[in-house]
Amino acid sequence: MNRLVAALAFAAHKHRDQRRKDIAASPYINHPIALANVLANEAHVDDETVLIAAILHDTIEDTDTTAAELIREFGPDVAAIVLEVTDDKALPKAERKRLQVVNSCGISRRAKLVKLADKICNLRDISRSPPAGWPLERQQAYFDWAQAVVEGIRGTHPALEAIFDEALARKPLHP
Ligand code: ZN
Repeated sequence: MNRLVAALAFAAHKHRDQRRKDIAASPYINHPIALANVLANEAHVDDETVLIAAILHDTIEDTDTTAAELIREFGPDVAAIVLEVTDDKALPKAERKRLQVVNSCGISRRAKLVKLADKICNLRDISRSPPAGWPLERQQAYFDWAQAVVEGIRGTHPALEAIFDEALARKPLHP
């Protein structure tokens, strides 16, 4: 529990100047908290390492956090999961998206849980309050891409996959 609270404080600090893409520009930290909440309270995942990795999952990709920092603060297991769900920002966006589809089947079980929760939360956010300036086609394309990524993950955690399918079923059909 103490490590989990430390991860919340660490992520809140690292993401302190960031906002989500929704029209209301919600605080970024809402997103990692939502992942941990889906995992713990909807899918009943009680692996603390997975919950901590979920809270930290965007710190390397989207802040100045390094792998060495995560290893020092939270240990090598947490850091390894975060690295598995971190895109290489040196690559063009389209290539990063393609690699997620190709590579999702090969990541660890714990990283798959974090990735499933990430996609669940992003689909929910888009269907509830789409990012500012995203036309319907872009929203739909995101749903289709998330579905393709999750195809490589299926068979990992049936309850979490059912939650993903519920979110997927809310694919926007009208602007
Ligand atoms: Zn995320």
